[in-house]
Amino acid sequence: MLIDSHCHLDFEAFDADRQQVIESCQQKNIRGFMVPAVAPRFWPRQLQLASQYPQVALALGLHPWYVSETAIESLRDLAEIFDRSPVPVLAIGETGLDKLKGNPELQLEGLKYQLSVAQELDKPVILHSVKTHARLQNILRDYPGVRGVVHGFSGSYEDAMRFIDIGFKLGIGGLITRPNARKIRAAASRLPLHSMVLETDAPDMSPYDHRGARNSPENLLLILNCLAELQQQDPEQIQRAVLANTRELFAWPPSV
Ligand SMILES: [Zn+2]
Repeated sequence: MLIDSHCHLDFEAFDADRQQVIESCQQKNIRGFMVPAVAPRFWPRQLQLASQYPQVALALGLHPWYVSETAIESLRDLAEIFDRSPVPVLAIGETGLDKLKGNPELQLEGLKYQLSVAQELDKPVILHSVKTHARLQNILRDYPGVRGVVHGFSGSYEDAMRFIDIGFKLGIGGLITRPNARKIRAAASRLPLHSMVLETDAPDMSPYDHRGARNSPENLLLILNCLAELQQQDPEQIQRAVLANTRELFAWPPSV
């Protein structure tokens, strides 16, 4: 069984065929979907999705591209939703920093707030980091005990090892399928097996052979096979490792 540790199945891009996508994943043995938030105004849509599909678990939070004063204000409800949600809300995020997009001061404010909630509730954090790895690592050191995943990881082996040292896993996605993505391919080929989870980030981040098309969690197998090739390991061994890592990260899905 495989779990997509990061996909936006609640986005409009899936409104027309969400059911078919989930069924087709089922046939490929992709049986769980961690759906992270981009902004509080979309949390109700996520909660609805999770109540409809038992295969879906959620992270709630505020993405660095979507920061605003209003959105940060709405984060005050976060802890309470964790307490009373009837569906699995298992992580905070996605949050983080992005040097290329979004207001830097508000990103930092949103990030710090979400890290403090993660610390208080002892929940994992899903981080977005674009050209901000060292900065994020410095901030994370102020929140001891906070753990999680750097999703859509695109840094070097050394960047990755520093995140692992402070309690984070790396979300490996479609980027590794691109022949010219040398840095991340080199990192993914050497990273310890206990440090990685797989993700599509659908509907964005299409794998190399599907550029321009909507990405889908169905493409998770391409990423698995590519990682197995880079690691020179049997895909089955990679599959077992990433499933165990996902379980460790989110305390989900339950083993059967
Ligand atoms: Zn995402």
